[in-house]
Amino acid sequence: MSDAKEREEICTIGASIFARGLTAGSSGNISVRTDDGWLMTPTNASLGRLDPARLSKLDRNGALLSGDPPTKESFLHRVMYEERPDTGAVVHLHSTHSVAVSCLAEIDPDDVLPPITAYYVMRVGRLPLIPYFRPGDLELAEAVRGFAGRHHAVLLANHGPVVAGANLDAAVNAIEELEETAKLYLLLRGAKTRFLSPAQVKELMQ
Ligand SMILES: [Zn+2]
Repeated sequence: MSDAKEREEICTIGASIFARGLTAGSSGNISVRTDDGWLMTPTNASLGRLDPARLSKLDRNGALLSGDPPTKESFLHRVMYEERPDTGAVVHLHSTHSVAVSCLAEIDPDDVLPPITAYYVMRVGRLPLIPYFRPGDLELAEAVRGFAGRHHAVLLANHGPVVAGANLDAAVNAIEELEETAKLYLLLRGAKTRFLSPAQVKELMQ
């Protein structure tokens, strides 16, 4: 298979994500752009036990060429690739701390997490909150589409993050940074905190 390397990468990273408790059960999904379409994790598959040969192989129109049917959340991935042409990979997780933050009543939907660390600012930047939609509601795709052109990372309310990257490593590093920052945010809630100043954030954005 010409895409054997990508298949191995998806399975290795999926196992690592699952082993570290960054998504549970059969939640979470990964996709990678290939020369002729996409590889995607299948529906009802645990990221901890992916089989390289059974990954969903999709053509450029999203039609299934081989493998198991793709994740039911494939539309989240499609929207990111459509709106961000430089995207090489997309990762979506139900990572606990990010989901917890997505449920808080008093977060800023335009910029969910404060600038706690420089790496969060550099890898994630501004994180918008997408309103809640029931699972499978395709209106969620259109809601994400409205932000995807301006943001490579979005947080779905009461659900979890979706992050696009130039390649799989970039997407995974960014979603892990997001999850760690959500954890830090929850640890710091109620404590007087010095976040990075607007000038410090501006310097990092340049
Ligand atoms: Zn999901």
